[in-house]
Amino acid sequence: MNHSFIEVKTDSHFPIQNLPYGVFRPKNGGTPRVGVAIGDYVLDLSIIDASGLLNIPELQGKEVFKQSTLNEFMSMNRKVWSSVRTRLQTLLRSDEPILRDQFVLRDQAFYQQKDVEMLLPVEIGDYTDFYASKEHAMNVGMMFRGKENALMPNWLNLPVGYHGRASSIVISGTDIRRPLGQMKTPESETPIFGPCLRFDFELEMGCLIGPGNKLGTSIPVDEAEDHIFGLVLVNDWSARDIQAWEYQPLGPFLGKNFATSISPWVVSIEALEPFRVNGPTPEVEQLPYLQQSRKGSFDIELAVNLRGENMEYPQRICQSNFRHLYWSMAQQIAHHTVGGCNLRTGDLLASGTISGSTPESRGSLLELTWGGLEPILMNNGEQRKWLEDGDELTLTAWCQGNGYRIGFGEVTGCILPALEFSKI
Ligand code: CA
Repeated sequence: MNHSFIEVKTDSHFPIQNLPYGVFRPKNGGTPRVGVAIGDYVLDLSIIDASGLLNIPELQGKEVFKQSTLNEFMSMNRKVWSSVRTRLQTLLRSDEPILRDQFVLRDQAFYQQKDVEMLLPVEIGDYTDFYASKEHAMNVGMMFRGKENALMPNWLNLPVGYHGRASSIVISGTDIRRPLGQMKTPESETPIFGPCLRFDFELEMGCLIGPGNKLGTSIPVDEAEDHIFGLVLVNDWSARDIQAWEYQPLGPFLGKNFATSISPWVVSIEALEPFRVNGPTPEVEQLPYLQQSRKGSFDIELAVNLRGENMEYPQRICQSNFRHLYWSMAQQIAHHTVGGCNLRTGDLLASGTISGSTPESRGSLLELTWGGLEPILMNNGEQRKWLEDGDELTLTAWCQGNGYRIGFGEVTGCILPALEFSKI
């Protein structure tokens, strides 16, 4: 692979092999538009498209990059996405003069990432959250129901999920207000109302749907990846005490719906292709509609860093890997649609918490502190059972190649104190 004329460090998340899409607004003014990340820069695709350098027949006269969301571009198809990606890789090569030597155009088209504001890249219509890590399901099941009944009888046969809330999905960097709600402690006979005391994160990844399917049709598992525009990091903020009291019999509701954060850069399947691996081997025979013929997972390193208000520097509290997921994204899509449910462009399907088999790979505080029984010692001597006001929590992810990384950047959020409830 050739290098770019834009300098990219070996540990950068955004080499020429990646080129993730995002939506940004220059801090010095201007409308939102689509860009790709390269090194410490963003390339403004609305400018590149208008200059005529892209030259993709399917995009003629459409201005898909001069928009405040990726949805129109996402609704096209894999062939178009691939043509754009290949063309951009050519334009950015160090030995290709066509963009490299156009200094006026370069001046207009490249922004330093620090000079732009990243926006929610997609208008998300529907959000589904799965529960695809067996280790996570086992850990939570053991805490809630005991070792014998940890895994529900359906879990190995279908990707368990629930329909989430799209309106409260926010971009990385958005402050997260500690939710108020109803909960019941073992000590009290009646439920109480107040600020969540067991505030948690969930380390997840999500896929964003490109072209959808018609109502009444389904997407076969081996065609499912053609419907994925790309992947982002997802933090499914969770109020464990609210969740524990409300979740039976219909599942999560207010314990989850107050906020979900996603990372700004959408990484394509094509960029992840060199890192394709098999997920865990199925433990029971799967029904034919869930049998995927190709490797369905990717070797993506995941990490979580926590920085409290009184901490000088952040501390890594979790290190996991996307390949731990038992159910692949393709299986999730096949299952989601098998009864005729239509997915639409911009839908977000999140994986569920990605925990591995080792203690440090547990993807939530619920698991890392075993329900608050085993607090984490922080680097300034504090302890953490749950998230505290002022904590800044950051998820990051990358694939390690030979001398380069395909990265996802990060998704971060800072915890604000709950509203005083005399005011509601
Ligand atoms: Ca979740």
